[in-house]
Amino acid sequence: MNYVKNELTGPRVFVAVNDNKKGKIHLTGGYAKPKMNKSMCGTKLNMKTIVDARDIAPREEYRHAHRWCKRCLAMLDFEGLDQKVLFSAIEFSAGTYGQLVVAHHISRNKPKLKLTSAPDKSQWRTVGSD
Ligand SMILES: [Zn+2]
Repeated sequence: MNYVKNELTGPRVFVAVNDNKKGKIHLTGGYAKPKMNKSMCGTKLNMKTIVDARDIAPREEYRHAHRWCKRCLAMLDFEGLDQKVLFSAIEFSAGTYGQLVVAHHISRNKPKLKLTSAPDKSQWRTVGSD
């Protein structure tokens, strides 16, 4: 599969949570799984609730990295920067996702953000289509 990396804005990433609140939290949507039929790491999403990332990722009870599927978080690297920002608060032993990933894109005194070229076809993402 071809993934577009480092676009500034991208399709929305959603979070898949077990109804019993146990088990790893997976990601879906975005470029990786636009149909949201599976998680980004390939796990089936039956028996899971798909939630807007804004309602989960920044909240204190979801900040510990051990609650999240590491393979899905690794796939988040290929999503738009605006979507990565939502996961900034998740804490790893080496620092938060914001410190480890997002800050490299946005801090001063860093090389220019290298963006991949835009897709060949211009595709307008209108309201409700994402
Ligand atoms: Zn996963």
